[in-house]
Formats: sequence, structure tokens, C-alpha cells
Amino acid sequence: MSTSLRALRSDITKLQIEAIVNAANSSLLGGGGVDGAIHRAAGPELIHECRLLGGCKTGEAKVTKGYRLQAKYIIHTVGPVWRGGANGEAELLASCYRRSVELAAERSLTSLAFPSISTGIYGYPIALAARVAIGSVRESLKQGSSIQEVVFCCFSPEDLLHYESILSETAA
Ligand code: ADP
Repeated sequence: MSTSLRALRSDITKLQIEAIVNAANSSLLGGGGVDGAIHRAAGPELIHECRLLGGCKTGEAKVTKGYRLQAKYIIHTVGPVWRGGANGEAELLASCYRRSVELAAERSLTSLAFPSISTGIYGYPIALAARVAIGSVRESLKQGSSIQEVVFCCFSPEDLLHYESILSETAA
């Protein structure tokens, strides 16, 4: 069965889904943007578990429990800071999505939601980032896995338009 990919506009902390992805920083100790929102919504137990993880490299991902979120798990991944595009940014961003899909599949999860990684404070242009996000997720799902639904959770209407147009253009 093929996986459904869709984009919607929401606060990712409110989604009823098995796992949400956090656009974290390498310390995994919380920050602004979506990271701050996830830590606030999950509650203080999250930071305790994160402290035990020893940080995370750019392009890598680590899993914690979801605590007070509806989501059972949080997959923390560290996107690249945009430095013009010739510094491996696309490969690192693709790796964030691939590693997150792999970790979800290892736990036999069926549903997963991503924020638009690196496109806030880290400055990755949304049009480019959305293409990398969708391309990497589609590629990672080719292996076949438990995952039936992937949601690209956009915070702004503009971001949603980018995702929707790329999803329809690349629909399988
Ligand atoms: P990064 O440091 O990876 O750029 P940010 O958190 O600054 O991460 O931004 C990533 C994306 O997450 C941006 O599009 C931002 O608008 C969005 N965002 C911020 N808060 C939320 C939230 N509660 N739910 C979903 N997306 C969010």
C-alpha cells in the first residue's frame, strides 16, 4: 500500500499522530520556534530525557517519548543553517528527513508529521527546502515500511502553498 503524503496548516504540537519531528538544535536542550513550542507542550520531563542523549549532529535524528503531547514519540533532528546553498545544506536537510523516516520505521510507526525543518531561524529558503523535504521523504519510503501517512505541517499559509504545489507536481 502506498503512503499518503499531505500538507496542512497547524501547530504541530496539536496533531493527533504517532510521532512528530522536532527541528531541534545540536544541544537538544530546547530553543525557539517549533522546538520551544514542542518543549512547552510536552512538559518538563522532555528536557530530562533530552539531557541523556548527548546532543545530535546536523543531519542526524534521535527519538524521545512525547510526554504530554498526543504524539507518542518525538523525533528530534538537527537541520543545517543556510549558508548560501553550497555548503552541503541540501544533503544535510535530506538526511534529516531520511533519518527521521528510518527511525519511525524501526519502531513500526504508521504516522509521522514534519515541520518545515531549517526554514525558520536557520534561514533555508522555503521553496528549496520544501522540494528537498518531499523528495527525501518519497525516496525514503521507497524501501517499503510500516508508515502509512506523512504530514508536512506548515505554520504559515505561504509555506502551505509551496508544499501543496510541489506535492501535486510530484504526485506519484
Ligand atoms: P529552524 O531552526 O530549523 O529553522 P524554526 O523552529 O525556527 O526551526 O522553524 C522551522 C519551521 O517551524 C518554520 O516554518 C516555523 O514557522 C515553524 N514553526 C514554528 N512553530 C511551529 C509550531 N508550533 N508548529 C509547526 N511549525 C512551527
